[in-house]
Amino acid sequence: MILPFKNTGNANDRDISCELRFKNAPVKVIRTGNSVRISAFVKFTGDADSQFTDTVKSENPISVKKDTCPGETYAEVAANAIMNLWKGDFDVGGQSLNVETLIYSNNPSPNNVLKPFSADKKQKTLKIHIGAGDKGHLSSLPGALAMRSHEGIRIFGGILNNESVLKWSVKKSSSAIVIYDHIRSSKTGKMEFIGRNWFEQTAAHEFGHALGLGDAYNAGYRGGRWVGSLDGYYAPYCYQVEDENGNRNCVYVPDNDIMLQGEAHNHVSDNDIRMVLNAYKTGKVQLFPRGCKNIKDRRKVNKDIRE
Ligand SMILES: [Zn+2]
Repeated sequence: MILPFKNTGNANDRDISCELRFKNAPVKVIRTGNSVRISAFVKFTGDADSQFTDTVKSENPISVKKDTCPGETYAEVAANAIMNLWKGDFDVGGQSLNVETLIYSNNPSPNNVLKPFSADKKQKTLKIHIGAGDKGHLSSLPGALAMRSHEGIRIFGGILNNESVLKWSVKKSSSAIVIYDHIRSSKTGKMEFIGRNWFEQTAAHEFGHALGLGDAYNAGYRGGRWVGSLDGYYAPYCYQVEDENGNRNCVYVPDNDIMLQGEAHNHVSDNDIRMVLNAYKTGKVQLFPRGCKNIKDRRKVNKDIRE
């Protein structure tokens, strides 16, 4: 049974409605008072159960900890990145909210990172596909964009994957997230490992799309051909929003915001959490306003820009 979402003004009533409405959603966001619990039910595929590249140790015959200290799988590294970045204390509209994220998955987890869940047919899952190594992916696409599934790429006159971000819904979350750990170097032309930091940033950034957020950089659907090109729009550094009581607040997109692109952008901001709650309240994907075409001008955009 699906109950209509009803804001009665009573926090507890509202939260119970949320829970019933989103019962079998792949990613649930439940607010109870000042606590926000994000629960993602994930099916990892591809090379997700393989040992993560960085943890593959060279052959060491005198190692005695081999059996008691298992290496992390790709699924475990991705899940830890998501759970560690999408958590903490956040200020949303003057309220301090504590956010916690849990990844439920029945993939193997030698380090007990993934929490198993009972296989209920009605429980939908978010698919996260990991492609390890230098073969079998979109390696012909330019640079960093080759490793992401959800980034709009303007190419051949069309926008590839444009719809992946825009077609988000609470019921289905995003389409499958695809993460590759190799990209073609623009310098050498060879496929190279992206490194642990960037792999983790990618997992947490793509999870932002699964939570109903758009990109803060100049993605294809924001007019951009590629990151750094001056034909698309970055989110402004700050802009105004109006809450349900009609109060206006300034919100900020910090320079290291997770919804920007690249491994240095590994911070979930207060505004990101505000947008996640709005996505789950309204059922609509939350897009950043179009600020400026040059990332260096983000602070010059007029503060009065509205959502
Ligand atoms: Zn993105």
